[in-house]
Amino acid sequence: MRYVMKFGGTSVGNGDRIKQVAELVRSYYEQGNEIAVVVSAMSGLTDELQTIAERLTGEYAEVAEVSEFVDAIGKRHIDAAYAAIEDEMTVTEVISEVETRLEELKNALTGIYHLGELTDRSYDYISSFGERLSAPMISGALKSLKIQSVFLTGGEAGIITDSKHRGARPTEITERRVHERLVPLLKVGIVPVITGFIAYNIHNIITTLGRGGSDYTASIIGSAVDVDEIWIWTDVDGIMTADPKLVPNARTLPEISYVEAMEISYFGAKVIHPKTIEPAVTKGIPVRVKNTFNPDGASTLIVEAVTKDQSLVKAVTAIDNVALITLSGAGMAGTIGVAAHVFSTLANAGVNIIMISQGSSEANISFLVEEEHLSRALNALHELKREFDANIIKEISCDEDVSAIAVVGSRMAGTPGIAGRIFGCIGRINVSVIMISQGSTEHNVSFVLKRDSVRRAVENLHEEFSLAGSDSRKKRR
Ligand code: ADP
Ligand code: ASP
Ligand code: MG
Repeated sequence: MRYVMKFGGTSVGNGDRIKQVAELVRSYYEQGNEIAVVVSAMSGLTDELQTIAERLTGEYAEVAEVSEFVDAIGKRHIDAAYAAIEDEMTVTEVISEVETRLEELKNALTGIYHLGELTDRSYDYISSFGERLSAPMISGALKSLKIQSVFLTGGEAGIITDSKHRGARPTEITERRVHERLVPLLKVGIVPVITGFIAYNIHNIITTLGRGGSDYTASIIGSAVDVDEIWIWTDVDGIMTADPKLVPNARTLPEISYVEAMEISYFGAKVIHPKTIEPAVTKGIPVRVKNTFNPDGASTLIVEAVTKDQSLVKAVTAIDNVALITLSGAGMAGTIGVAAHVFSTLANAGVNIIMISQGSSEANISFLVEEEHLSRALNALHELKREFDANIIKEISCDEDVSAIAVVGSRMAGTPGIAGRIFGCIGRINVSVIMISQGSTEHNVSFVLKRDSVRRAVENLHEEFSLAGSDSRKKRR
C-alpha cells in the first residue's frame, strides 16, 4: 500500500515525540508500505514566528530581540535533535542544517526590524521556518532507524502555487511535478519527509497555504502520487462529535462523509484544514484521522458514502476567530446591486466571508468574516460607502465579541424539526442568537452568538442530540 502520513505540531513537539513518530512510520514501513511523510512545525512555533515578525515592525522593538528569539528556538531544535537521533553522523548533519536555517532566519528578522515593514511575501518566508526546521529532524530520526529518507520543502516536492501569499493555491503543474519527484523515491523505498504548509510560486518564492495548511499539503501530495489512503496524525482520537477541549465527553466519529468533514472543518474543527478534502474527493481517496499518542485507539475514516453511522446530527462545532459586520441604511432597500457591490468589493480585498444574512426589509446586510480579515474588510467597505449615495449605506458596524456554531450532519437534509430542536435548546439555556444561516444543501445549521456563551451552547447541543459516548456522564449547566 502507498500512504501519505501527516504529523501535526504537537506530534513533533519535542525530541521524544519525534522519536515516537519515527518509530510509528517504521512500523508501517516494515510491513512493506511506501510512505511519504508530511510534517508541521513544532507546536506553537508558527505563532511565535509570526508574532516576533509583527513585533519587530513596531515602535518599541529592539534588535536584541532577534538573537534572543533565534537562540531560544535554536536550543529547542538542537535539544530535540539530540533526543530524537541516535546516529552521530546523522545528528551532526541535522544540526548543521538547523544552524544554516537559524542564520537565515536571523538575517531575515534583522532585515524586518531595520525596514520596519512586513509584506505578505516576507510574512510567508518567516512563517516557513517552522516546517523547514522540523522536516530535517524527522528525516534524521528515520535515518537513525536505518530507513532511507530525504527531506524536501513543499516547493522542492513539486507544489507550485499562485502568488496569493498567506493562502496560496496549487497550480495545475503541481500534480505532475509532485508525481515525477516523489514516486521514484517511494518506489525504491526512500521515505521523503516534506514540509507541510509551504510551497513555491513559479518564481521559486516561498508561499504558504494558510494556517493549518499542512493537512492540505498531505492531501495535495496524496492525490498526486495516488496513495491508497491519506493519514492525518494529530493529538486526539480522530474527528469527534465536538472539540474535546470544549466538550470533554465528545466521542470519535468512526466514519463520516467528505461533505460532512468539509462542513465540520469549515466551521471550526481545526483537526483538519477545510481544503484537505478537496484533492481527496477528486480521486476518491479515503482520509483517515488518527492519534499519534494513541495509535491503536479510535480513529475517523472519511469516505464518499457513509455506511456505518446513520445519525442525523454528527457534530457540533464552533469558531471563535470571527467578526460580524453589519451594513445598514434605509436606501439599501430596493436599490438593486448593493449586495453585489459589497461582496465583490470584499472579494477583491481578499476577505473570506463565512456567513451572510439579509433581512427581508433589505435595510441591512450582516455577514461574518474571519477576524484576521476584519480591518481589510472595514477599510474596503468605508471606501465603498463613500462611493455610494449617502443614504444607501448609512452605517457600518462590527462586533468582534462573537462566535459561530454549526450543527452538522448530511442526513439532516430533508428531515424536518432539526432547526426547531437546535433553537429550542438554545432558548432554554437563555442564549440569544444574533444571526442564523442554513446552507441550501441542509448539511448544516449555523448561527452566531456572543463568544462567552459558546461553551454552554456547544455542550447543551451536544447533549440535545445525544452525541456523547455511552460511558460518559451527562452534564448540563
Ligand atoms: P495538529 O497540530 O495535529 O495539526 P491541530 O491543533 O491543528 O492539530 O488540530 C487538533 C485539535 O483540533 C485538537 O486538539 C482539538 O482540540 C481540535 N478540535 C476542534 N474540533 C474538533 C473535533 N470536532 N474533533 C477533534 N478535534 C477537534
Ligand atoms: N505550522 C502551520 C500552522 O501552524 C501549518 C500547520 O500546522 O498545519 O499554521
Ligand atoms: Mg492542524
